Amino acid sequence: MSALIDGVGCWAWTGPVRFDGRAALFLDRDGVIVEETDYLGRPQDVALIPTAGETIAAFNGAGVPVIVVTNQSGVGRGYFSWDDFEAVQAEIAARLATFGAHVDAVFACAFHKKGLGDMAVADHPWRKPGAGMLYEAHARLGVALERSFIVGDKDSDLGAGRAAGLMGGLHVSTGHGDATHRAEALALQTSAFEVRLGDDIGAAKVLLTRLAGA
Ligand SMILES: [Mg+2]
Repeated sequence: MSALIDGVGCWAWTGPVRFDGRAALFLDRDGVIVEETDYLGRPQDVALIPTAGETIAAFNGAGVPVIVVTNQSGVGRGYFSWDDFEAVQAEIAARLATFGAHVDAVFACAFHKKGLGDMAVADHPWRKPGAGMLYEAHARLGVALERSFIVGDKDSDLGAGRAAGLMGGLHVSTGHGDATHRAEALALQTSAFEVRLGDDIGAAKVLLTRLAGA
């Protein structure tokens, strides 16, 4: 079921299946699964990244949990509502289904320092680069964070992965993945956190065997 779990700015949906001890593929949404349109709040504006469906289907087929973690300050800023967000999610799910693809969980955080009212929270632990959404995924699904990867178009996506103790992150050049974010993403590499670079989410397929066998 999906719900606002704090009544304000933390939203989660998890399916019925747990994935105890399995490595997960964490995905940012905007600029990774769908084209970046700046505050996507209308289902008619959904456009899948061309390689997203086939890539997610490949991980589904290998039994690797696919988990979306998305900052949604557009809700916090009052640009669109949680109902609008859910309508966009339903559209994305329908588009992915045409490829035989699905995601196993979605976590979203609307808090932002420029949010309205109760949404005005700077550096909320769920907001990437905070690790809160990934920790929640571990709590709910039992995924093994230390063997998981995250795909993102911003260094803050990979920063959240590093903060949560993931094995590594793949930075893609779709969405906001320009040279600045790429350099900042590369700077997150440590001996314990592997940073990879790719053109788009399709580059994640090189991780399939590792995550499926983990
Ligand atoms: Mg993004």
